[in-house]
Amino acid sequence: MRCPWCQADDDRVVDSRPADDGGSIRRRRECAACGRRFTTFERIEEVGLVVAKRDGSSEPFDREKLAAGIRKAFAGRPTSPLQIEQMVGRIETRVRRKGPDVTSRQVGGEVLAMLQKVDEVAYLRYASVYKDFQGTADFERELGMLLEKKEPARKRTR
Ligand SMILES: [Zn+2]
Repeated sequence: MRCPWCQADDDRVVDSRPADDGGSIRRRRECAACGRRFTTFERIEEVGLVVAKRDGSSEPFDREKLAAGIRKAFAGRPTSPLQIEQMVGRIETRVRRKGPDVTSRQVGGEVLAMLQKVDEVAYLRYASVYKDFQGTADFERELGMLLEKKEPARKRTR
């Protein structure tokens, strides 16, 4: 690895440890020429995940598109960019487990399952886009289902 300080191509690894929950390996290197240290990350080359859409076409999985949809659902809600990023990461992990071929329905299902646990408003917003709501009746139906699912938990706390 070429040293970022002096450009010499002679280094030794002084420390090596897993990073990103084991998703990569972080290596601390020391340049033999100038003695300065730098870090490299080794990770598996991104494998292609293909999403089949409802209209029959398919496209490569787009993490940014997923993140944009979730950010939109959380607009004005009490959350931080870091929390959004963590949610996107978890959803991506779950979707990749089903890969290399998934459907947009599976991706949407994972998002809804996540949002339902985190924020009801964001969930309903996302569901309204994802499920293509036609009017307030659709909203009421979804809200009813949401409340029904929560009911047992409420009873337990009494
Ligand atoms: Zn150097």
